[in-house]
Amino acid sequence: MQPECLSEHERTSSSAPTSLYRELLIMNLQCRAQVAAVFKSGSQVARALTEDWCRRELYCPACDSDKLLQSRPNTPAADFTCPRCTQLFELKSSRSWRLRKIVDAGYEAMLRAIREDRAPNLLFLHYSEDWLVTNLLLIPRVFFTESVIEKRRPLKPEARRAGWVGCNILLDRIPQDGKIPVVSNGLTVAERQVRNEFSRVRKLAEVPPAVRGWTLDVLSTIRKLGTVRFSLQDLYQLETYLQRIHPRNQNVRPKIRQQLQVLRDLGLIEFTSPGIYTVRS
Ligand SMILES: [Zn+2]
Repeated sequence: MQPECLSEHERTSSSAPTSLYRELLIMNLQCRAQVAAVFKSGSQVARALTEDWCRRELYCPACDSDKLLQSRPNTPAADFTCPRCTQLFELKSSRSWRLRKIVDAGYEAMLRAIREDRAPNLLFLHYSEDWLVTNLLLIPRVFFTESVIEKRRPLKPEARRAGWVGCNILLDRIPQDGKIPVVSNGLTVAERQVRNEFSRVRKLAEVPPAVRGWTLDVLSTIRKLGTVRFSLQDLYQLETYLQRIHPRNQNVRPKIRQQLQVLRDLGLIEFTSPGIYTVRS
């Protein structure tokens, strides 16, 4: 689905803060450079400015709270918390906008968080040279599975944390359902649309984490087809992709059929006719 972006006119023309326009009035995409005056390193400045922006401008996509609270310093993997529904959010900010992978924290810690179903939602923020928020992508926590985590090489012996192993998040393995634009190419996406998209995939949390990896990999495979309507045979054409990310599983086709039922029960696809399916928006 294309983000429902707002033109400059729409964002600035309303003088009455009706509920329809309330969201348009509050998102100022400019970070406040003065916030980082005390910092010297580039990464500290970026951190301070983008955290300040989120604290000032962001709302909770999971409920109707119009703000997120910053977590206490050094809270593991949770930079913000919703004061109303207690959802956790981790912020990653970058000057470059590469949508293939994101460098994340410790590999083992991330795996544990996934297996124990406590990975936070991720906010991936892209800012410009003059500190404008250009893109902001929300990845709901349910999309973090073992398939999308890549182990990095251990740090070299001369590194301060020699031997430490980090991980990458492979964004290209996350289906588009799990990459929700909040700001897109310098335009604010309507709050209502962000919340609808978050709500649409929320039921995935009902699938136990040990099974959810397969559910999302099949959804990702469906999305790779690029069509709303597809057949079982279409999916079987991409069997090798699923085999590659699950090398130990020899029963990929039965797994595909089983996960189609799970996706149907979650309301994400419909069984249109025997062997034919439709993605629900
Ligand atoms: Zn909330």
